[in-house]
Amino acid sequence: MGDDLAELDAAISGCRACPRLVAWREEVAATRRAAFRDQVYWGRPVPGFGAADASIGVLGLAPAAHGGNRTGRIFTGDRSGDVLFAAMYRAGLANQPDSVSRDDGLALTATRVFAAVRCAPPDNKPTPAERDTCAPWLHRELHLIRPTLRVVVALGAFAWAAFWPAIRAVYGLPPPVPRPTFRHGAEWRAPAGVPSLLGCYHVSQQNTFTGRLTPAMLDDVFARAKALAGL
Ligand code: SF4
Repeated sequence: MGDDLAELDAAISGCRACPRLVAWREEVAATRRAAFRDQVYWGRPVPGFGAADASIGVLGLAPAAHGGNRTGRIFTGDRSGDVLFAAMYRAGLANQPDSVSRDDGLALTATRVFAAVRCAPPDNKPTPAERDTCAPWLHRELHLIRPTLRVVVALGAFAWAAFWPAIRAVYGLPPPVPRPTFRHGAEWRAPAGVPSLLGCYHVSQQNTFTGRLTPAMLDDVFARAKALAGL
């Protein structure tokens, strides 16, 4: 599955394990949105992005059809990414607030961003089977950054739920029973050697346009994440 992050990223990019998602990501890439008609879409699984020695992980749901599925970099090229990377820039975790393409110069400090499902799903809704099929990619990524990872920020309830199987798969520990409930600002303090988990509303337009998730709320989450990571 990849002995280092570069190998893992390459392996993920070639995955075709979920027939429905393969068909969808490629159809979106072929038809395109009018505003991006002159662009060549990525149209493949989207690997994680960021520092190999990350102490903070940011876990999303899945790439957006015309965002990551277009640009080939997670949270890049849509409004969700604009909000997320601007917040990371304010927190000192990104070198620039903008994220428009794979070659835009964006670099993250001590942070890696990845998704629970690596292909864009219709309506942003992967099936449980697709979630489970994709989980080993996340688990492998977490394993590779395990030496430095101290906290994971889960963007939304889907990402929050995807974290628990990783505790057993990556760290060999049973997940807590009952599972802590997702809410914005929720915090699960992990046993030694396991990253803590922070809950944050997803940076989707539904949340940011309505004011359910504000820049100040994101600033608080990243300040807490940095504190838990010892940054
Ligand atoms: S969702 Fe994950 S497992 Fe399914 S095809 Fe995409 S990368 Fe492969």
